Amino acid sequence: GAGLNGEGKVCVYDPAFAEEARAQAFFVNDLRAAVENKELRLLFQPKVDAQSLQITAAEALLRWQHPVRGNVAPAVFVPMAESAGLMGMLGRWVIEESCRVAASWRAMGLRMRVAVNISALQMQEEDLVDHIAQCLERHGLQPNRFTCEITESVAMQHTDTATATFERMRSLGLHVSIDDFGTGYSSLAALRRLPASELKVDRAFVADLEHSEDARSIAASIVSLGKALNLKVVAEGVETQGQCELLMLMGCDELQGFLFSKPISAEEMTGMINSGSADGPESLPFSESLF
Ligand code: C2E
Ligand code: MG
Ligand code: MG
Ligand code: MG
Repeated sequence: GAGLNGEGKVCVYDPAFAEEARAQAFFVNDLRAAVENKELRLLFQPKVDAQSLQITAAEALLRWQHPVRGNVAPAVFVPMAESAGLMGMLGRWVIEESCRVAASWRAMGLRMRVAVNISALQMQEEDLVDHIAQCLERHGLQPNRFTCEITESVAMQHTDTATATFERMRSLGLHVSIDDFGTGYSSLAALRRLPASELKVDRAFVADLEHSEDARSIAASIVSLGKALNLKVVAEGVETQGQCELLMLMGCDELQGFLFSKPISAEEMTGMINSGSADGPESLPFSESLF
């Protein structure tokens, strides 16, 4: 087919593009069946308190194990699901499954919040907040145990609807987190109006902390901004002890990253909490002797 190439010139046939389109169609059909075929699962990554290093919450991260192509990253299939109109269905499954897992943790006496990522199109759904409320009720969970993570860029896309949805989430008693903060284009005025309860410093700033004065300044500014707005400040993508120490000094409330644990299964998470350490070959030691 005809299309514009990167430099804006018309090219008559781009085999790479055709191949990509074929792959997309193939994937979309498979994705439609993925829920029923039980190819989707949730992994959980802990958020830890920056003072006590205790686990306070678990973020649900969606995984798709394609029967032929293996693991497909959410960065690939979430946008695909959105354009194919499948994200509503996937998103409802994620909320339901997160509540089911959270209820099982609660039954074991573990007091942890569960955090779920909400996509751009989910934010447009009229019944999103009602659906979350119903799921929580069905599983006997309190709303203050549940966090919705919405990326800064999505929150800033349709500020008016986002603000209204944030308000409904907060009045239900949910926590609302602005994810990947610092990479979008927030106007500070819009940020001030958003009734969020948490700010997550994007991992791009965390990654460069030890080597870049600029990254340190930006991270420290984001932390102060969050604190000044009375938000809980979380840093994502913490991989080294050096980053961890700097973020603690800056006053981050919670930390998340491979230093503590990779995303793991619900069962592994239970084991990790009960033993106070990561147990699973994939996870790094979660040690009290970190310092
Ligand atoms: P996110 O919500 O910002 O999640 C953090 C991502 O960073 C996850 O990637 C996680 O595995 C990865 N990560 C965590 N700690 C570290 C670290 O220390 N170093 C590095 N390099 N990476 C780390 P993942 O699971 O591939 O998810 C990517 C994005 O896809 C998520 O970003 C989120 O925006 C989206 N996503 C994942 N699950 C869902 C879902 O159920 N629904 C929706 N709408 N989006 C989802
Ligand atoms: Mg997130
Ligand atoms: Mg994030
Ligand atoms: Mg991120």
